[in-house]
Amino acid sequence: MPELPEVETFRRYLLQGESGSPSILGKQIQDAELLWDNTLASPTPGEFKDRIQGQFVTGIGRRGKNLLIHLSRDTLIVHLRMSGELIVEEKTNPLGKHYRVILNFTDQYRFAFNNIRKFGRVWLIEDPDQVIGNLGPEPLADDFTPELFHQILQNRSRQLKYFLLDQEMIAGMGNIYTDEALFRAKLHPVTKTDTLNSTEAHQLWLSVREVLQEGIQNQGSSIDWMYKGGDYQKYLSVYNLEGKPCKRCKTPIKRIKIGQRSTHFCPTCQPLPE
Ligand SMILES: [Zn+2]
Repeated sequence: MPELPEVETFRRYLLQGESGSPSILGKQIQDAELLWDNTLASPTPGEFKDRIQGQFVTGIGRRGKNLLIHLSRDTLIVHLRMSGELIVEEKTNPLGKHYRVILNFTDQYRFAFNNIRKFGRVWLIEDPDQVIGNLGPEPLADDFTPELFHQILQNRSRQLKYFLLDQEMIAGMGNIYTDEALFRAKLHPVTKTDTLNSTEAHQLWLSVREVLQEGIQNQGSSIDWMYKGGDYQKYLSVYNLEGKPCKRCKTPIKRIKIGQRSTHFCPTCQPLPE
C-alpha cells in the first residue's frame, strides 16, 4: 500500500514533472471522464464533471497518504488505498486498461488515475477538512516536535504498532515504515505507548522521521505489485525479511500478526517489554 513517501513521490511528479510529463500546475481542465464511477466518493458523477470543468490547477499538496490537487474553487483529493498510479501524458497515447478517472487539460496533456484493484477513491470538495480533518499530525512538519509526540503517546495506552498505523494519531504511516521505524528505535511492536520515557519517545520520533525521509529520497518502496517507482525496498531492515539475519545482530527477523497486520521485527534488538 502506498504510504507517505510513495504519495509524496507522486506529489513531486505532478508538481515538477519529469521527461515527457510536464508539471500540471497552472493547467486548465477542459473536461473529466469517469471510467469507473465508484472511484468517486463525492459528489455524484454528473456534478463532478460539471464542477471540475474549467478549473485551474493552483497547487499540489499532500496530507498523510492523501494527495491534494488544489483547483480554482475546489480540491481534488486522491487516496490510492492498496495500489495505484498517477500519470501525466499526451492525450494521443492509448488509454490504459485500468484508468478510472481522466482529466483532460486544455493543452495536449491529460492526467489519469490508473487503479487496477479499484480500491482508490477520489473526492471533489470545497472544504478538504470534510475528508482529512481528523488526521493526526504530519510527521515531517516543523511543528511535529518530540515533545508533542511524547504527549500524544502518553495520552493513550495502545500497542505501538496499532498507534503508528492509526491515521488519527499520526498521518502517513503504513506497514512498511512502521516496522522500519520500530526496528530503528529498538522498540518491540507490542510495547504500550504510555510506557515510553522521553528518551524512547524521542528516539521513536527521530526514527519515524528518518525512515520517511529516506523513503522520499529513494522515491518510495516498490513492494506492492503496482508501485514500481522507487528503490527504498533495497534498504529495508525488517519489512518482508522474515528469516533473514538482522543487520545489527544477525538474529533471524521474525514475522508475527498483530491484529490483521503482518509485523516484522528483530527479537533480540527489539525485546518484548517486561
Ligand atoms: Zn537484531
